[in-house]
Parts: sequence; C-alpha cells; structure tokens
Amino acid sequence: MAKQDKDTPPPLPEPLRVPVADSHTHLDMQGTTVEEALATAASVGVTTLVQVGCDLNGSRWAADTAAAHEAIHATVALHPNEAPRIVLGDPDGWSRQGAREPGGDAALDAALAEIDALAARPEVRGVGETGLDHFRTGPEGMAAQERSFRAHIEIAKRHGKALVIHDREAHDDVLRILREEGAPDRVVFHCYSGDAAMAEVCAAAGYFMSFAGNVTFKNAQPLRDALAIAPPELLLVETDAPFLTPAPYRGRANAPYLIPLTLRAMADVKGMTEDALASAVAANTARAFDY
Ligand SMILES: [Zn+2]
Ligand SMILES: [Zn+2]
Repeated sequence: MAKQDKDTPPPLPEPLRVPVADSHTHLDMQGTTVEEALATAASVGVTTLVQVGCDLNGSRWAADTAAAHEAIHATVALHPNEAPRIVLGDPDGWSRQGAREPGGDAALDAALAEIDALAARPEVRGVGETGLDHFRTGPEGMAAQERSFRAHIEIAKRHGKALVIHDREAHDDVLRILREEGAPDRVVFHCYSGDAAMAEVCAAAGYFMSFAGNVTFKNAQPLRDALAIAPPELLLVETDAPFLTPAPYRGRANAPYLIPLTLRAMADVKGMTEDALASAVAANTARAFDY
C-alpha cells in the first residue's frame, strides 16, 4: 500500500440498520476528538462505545469521558503489560507515561487501590482490560502480571462489574486463574484469539467472546472456526481501535465507525443475516456491561 493510502482514513461503510456497540475501543489513542468519533460512528449505526482504560491516567480519563457522554461506558484497569512496568520500572519509557523507576509491589498495590476506587463509579461498567500477555511481557514480569490479574478479578467481583480479559498467547493460564479465583458473573474475552476448542470452554462457562477486525484477515481461519461454533448469545464485536483495522483496510488507522465491516464478516461466518447478528450483539453488549 502506498504511503498516502496508509494515511487516508478508510471510507464510511454502509450504515447498519440495527445499531450496535463497539465493545472495546481506545478513543484516547485515535487522534480525533471524542465528539468526532461519536458522530462518525453513530452515522453508520455504531451508537454506543465502551472506552477501555489501560493505566491510571487512561482509566481516570475513561471514567470522566463516560460521565460526560451518554453513549460511552468506561472500563478501568492496569493493562497486563502495565503492571510489570509499575513493579519493575520502565527505563526505556516506551509506555505512554514515559520512563519510570521500579516501584515494587507497593507501587502496584497503590495503583490497584485507585482502580478499585474508580470501579465504584456508576459510569464504570467493567474492570479491564486485565489478564495475561505472554507475548509482550517476558518471564521477569509474569509474577507482577498475574498478581495484578488476580487483584482485578477480585475488584470486579466486589463491585459487580464485568471483567474484560486481555489474553495474548496465554489461553490456558487465563482460564486456569479464572477457575482458581472464581470468575465474576460477566466475563468478556476481548479480541478473542482462542481456537474452536477454547470457544467451547468459554461457551460452557458463559463467557462473552468479543471479535475484532482480525477475524477478517486472510490467515485467520482458526479464529473464524472459533466464531462458527460460538453461541450467538455470547458474541460481541469490537474495534480495539486504533489497532486491528478490518480488511480491506488493514494497515490504516482503525476507529469505531469501521465496526460494520467486522460485523458483516462475522454474519457471513455465522450464516446469519446482518440484522439478526446486530440485534444479538446489541443485546449481548448491554447484558455484558449491564447498561
Ligand atoms: Zn487488549
Ligand atoms: Zn484494548
């Protein structure tokens, strides 16, 4: 793709007839105003957004933004790759808050206490994204990551909020820790990345599976196989924008207004009409986040 193509936002898709929610987005990383993102999304039938926090600043921003906008709900957390940075430090400063000294377990506890306080706010409908990321965090960070995940599960249960899971190359460990801690009533696997066998485990446990733009990628047949057997009443759709832009715009910036592309690809896999899947997804998202 030529450079100018990469910098051009994908065109507006044909609007959905049945409005849905983008169940997982990062408006604070998209380079547009909240108002612009909401208006563009609403113009194609994406009328509700779940804004996900990944660190303390982002979680405070998510809660404040949801408080200011009826169409936005917030989730709050320390991302699985954020927790090790708090404990071990981040000398290179590649996290969004810049270079940091190691804070140890005390710093993680202090940050978790703030997440706990934010989770009590009514506009905060979920705790996450939390979980495990064996791709980005090396063995030295795993203890901090796991301690943080267990703490987020406890916070979600105590506040009666949905738990939003980030699971990257960590399926078995995520499922095991959920079993060990006891899962909250409502669990969402964001950017679902397991295979069909894992989808059966999630379905039996009643976990929601939220599919992102990567389900449209050519090499994603295992993901489509998982989607094919996932029960319609547990399906959500998300952008994870600005990441994971659906085909045919892979490589350009993602935004909530591109949800129709992913939803239509999902409907094809499920053998459902677009309207039937959109109705199911809209109801499921409202149930998952209790709004
Ligand atoms: Zn994630
Ligand atoms: Zn995310």
